[in-house]
Amino acid sequence: MKKNAIDKSEYPQTAEIENRCVNILADLWHAKENYIGTSTVGSSEACMLSGMALKFRWRHLAEARGINVNKQKPNLVISSGYQVCWEKFAVYFDVELREVPVDPRHLSLNLEKVLDFVDEYTIGIVGILGITYTGKFDDIKALDRLAADYNAQHEHQLVIHVDAASGGMFAPFTNPELEWDFRLENVVSINTSGHKYGLVYPGVGWVVFRDTKFLPQELVFKVSYLGGEMPTMAINFSRSASQIIGQYYNFIRFGKAGYREIHERTRSVALFLAEELRKTGLFEVLNDGENLPIVCYKLKETSHVKWTLYDLSDRLLMRGWQVPAYPLPHDMEEVVIQRYVCRADLGHNMSSEFVADLHEAIKELDQAHILFHDGDVKTYGFTH
Ligand SMILES: *Cc1c(COP(=O)(O)O)cnc(C)c1O
Repeated sequence: MKKNAIDKSEYPQTAEIENRCVNILADLWHAKENYIGTSTVGSSEACMLSGMALKFRWRHLAEARGINVNKQKPNLVISSGYQVCWEKFAVYFDVELREVPVDPRHLSLNLEKVLDFVDEYTIGIVGILGITYTGKFDDIKALDRLAADYNAQHEHQLVIHVDAASGGMFAPFTNPELEWDFRLENVVSINTSGHKYGLVYPGVGWVVFRDTKFLPQELVFKVSYLGGEMPTMAINFSRSASQIIGQYYNFIRFGKAGYREIHERTRSVALFLAEELRKTGLFEVLNDGENLPIVCYKLKETSHVKWTLYDLSDRLLMRGWQVPAYPLPHDMEEVVIQRYVCRADLGHNMSSEFVADLHEAIKELDQAHILFHDGDVKTYGFTH
């Protein structure tokens, strides 16, 4: 805890451990030789770095092609199910966020529409491996094909950043055949959160660039390291190295087989919960935990209950379960969903207890005399 991760020359072994973690992730994500990466405080910082790299690289290339880069703001194309860090990126770094609306058929990036949002000022497209709202995966492979077609016809080249905050350390273990990473030629950078399915305490994130050429030199700083120099890129400066050590410890301690075993058990818990929800006949399950162990559902239109998912949240809270309910993003905000993010410490015994309490809560709500408010009541949002 007392080692400062930024001080590579004072703590060269810590720097070595960080590099090994980057190598392990690069290998897991099928990077070839010339990759570069770093730890961050979390995916948010990693997304800022990746977004900046896209912006700087776009500007160099656009200027070289004689485009007036000041005529309009550069833009980044992303599904409206993005996590809030992308909104921050857009504001802090003065980029227009072009949101492809989610719709009932696509609770992820709409591939029929995505190219309508692209122009010469597009710095990149973000694919999300694990939409925060619903747990759905964007179809990155199909997105890569679209980008390849576009690139064959245009001088302006589209590149993809994958926000794999949740999926980056889940899919490679549970679904290694799924191609979403550097196996796809237009994917130029990937981020993940060590404190999500990397199983480390908060806060640690990672970003890897497929090739040093996708990280413009202005963003790289040289620090002294063992008498020589070492490249660093980070928005933050001093922080404890403990999370990096935690990540390395987990990689070594669990190995691929261990991560797979832990994640498969978590997935089986999610699938069990989804099945129990279906059995009640009241809910439509939008994501059942097959990709990521995130269960997301709404009340069926035909369920005709007098209560809402917000009432169910309140009821479950009385038994100590914090189960959020919130509206979907723009264009689908009339749909209210509820979500469970299953983690490694939610085992089958605890989830069975939860199901018993869920049945109890539904029974009580069915028998309750529910009062509706006349004025506006507090509506819950999604804030992280
Ligand atoms: C959680 C999440 C983030 C932010 O990650 P932090 O590690 O909390 O900074 C970014 N994008 C997605 C898709 C996420 O799920």
